[in-house]
Amino acid sequence: MIGTTPHPPRSPPVSPTPGDSRAAANAASVLRAVLTHGPLARSDLPKLCGLSPAAVSRQTTALLRAGLLHEHPEPEQPPAATGTGPGGGPGTGPTTGPGPGRPRIPLDLHTGPLGGPLAAGLHIGVPASTFSLVDLRGRVLARRAFPHAGRSPGSLPADIAAELGRFLQVSNPAGRPLLGVGAALGGWVRPADGTVVRHDALGWRDLPLGPELSDRLGLPVSVDNHARAVAHAEILFGRPEARSSLLHLFIGNVVDAAFGIEGTVHQGPGAAAGDVAHLPVPGSQTPCACGRTGCLQASASDGVLGAEAVRRGIIPEPADNAVSLLVDAAATGDPRADRLLRERARTVGRAAALLLDVFNPAVMVVAELAGILHDGYLDEIRDAAGDQDRYGRRIVAPQAGPAVLPVASASVLLAPLFRDPSRLT
Ligand SMILES: [Zn+2]
Repeated sequence: MIGTTPHPPRSPPVSPTPGDSRAAANAASVLRAVLTHGPLARSDLPKLCGLSPAAVSRQTTALLRAGLLHEHPEPEQPPAATGTGPGGGPGTGPTTGPGPGRPRIPLDLHTGPLGGPLAAGLHIGVPASTFSLVDLRGRVLARRAFPHAGRSPGSLPADIAAELGRFLQVSNPAGRPLLGVGAALGGWVRPADGTVVRHDALGWRDLPLGPELSDRLGLPVSVDNHARAVAHAEILFGRPEARSSLLHLFIGNVVDAAFGIEGTVHQGPGAAAGDVAHLPVPGSQTPCACGRTGCLQASASDGVLGAEAVRRGIIPEPADNAVSLLVDAAATGDPRADRLLRERARTVGRAAALLLDVFNPAVMVVAELAGILHDGYLDEIRDAAGDQDRYGRRIVAPQAGPAVLPVASASVLLAPLFRDPSRLT
């Protein structure tokens, strides 16, 4: 594309004015196309984005200047390294331009070790938090657990901020730009103002977590429920179909769900969507604290699984990592552990079947640790859900595998950035 020099010497101001929603949408379109297909030639972008070459040129210039895009350092790449995808067509990937002009230097997200920006992730669980550092492609560069042992829930935000601040210093020695922190946790979370409306296990009510962490860290902080955070991560980094419609079922100490459509994760009034704790599971008679029987959380949470493992003598005492212990025991030949994990998988699968029928998503992500660690348990979930032939298999494990929560928490920050990168340009 003649005339689209990477750094025109007299470029006009390209930052959209506040409220310039078309420019914001165009910037998002370019950034997402590069996320999906990059590295790619600039000349492929107009077709991929449905934009004019001039509009693409304005946005690539702004995104390069903001440090979100980068010109691929090696113009001569073997074809196998190109990210050809749907609609990519000839010329996708690193190419040199025809004729006497300069080579067309391919564009990619800026993920290089010498300056690509990073997002911090903070997952707040009940026994521990997890810190992570993630690049623009959702790759985890560093992570660390922070056990909460002995700390009161009231002092936890301050303690987490102090430890997270230290983690960010030591794990980013090159001083790459830090875009901010994405925080994810269970319970009822209102992303608009970063408030934890209600988190029963930590006893938090109307806690302004985002503003408090932001004040202490001096960084932008976005907060969301962990189930929605995983949905954000899948829309950004998971299967392409997840952008059309996606259902996520989270099975951990709590159970939660999130639904995304056309790349947007549904929050519902008050951001309260996704509570499936008391979804009745067909065939389950387990009593629930709510007074009914067969509720999903009472039938399938990690705590319930761990307690049952203790009751059956498979593990000696309750443990935060009971699922991992059971997967290890099953892998080393304990049939009781395998049986218990398969029983839970079938319970999860029956709940998944109900949700598949109601939402009919293109992809259903089930974040359940045994299924993440071992395909056999994922298959058990699929079989119990009847997820076999009707639409092809739609139940998948999270794309990040065991790193699901470190990537998901950082995605709480990255998702709005990819939706509106003009805030940085
Ligand atoms: Zn219940």
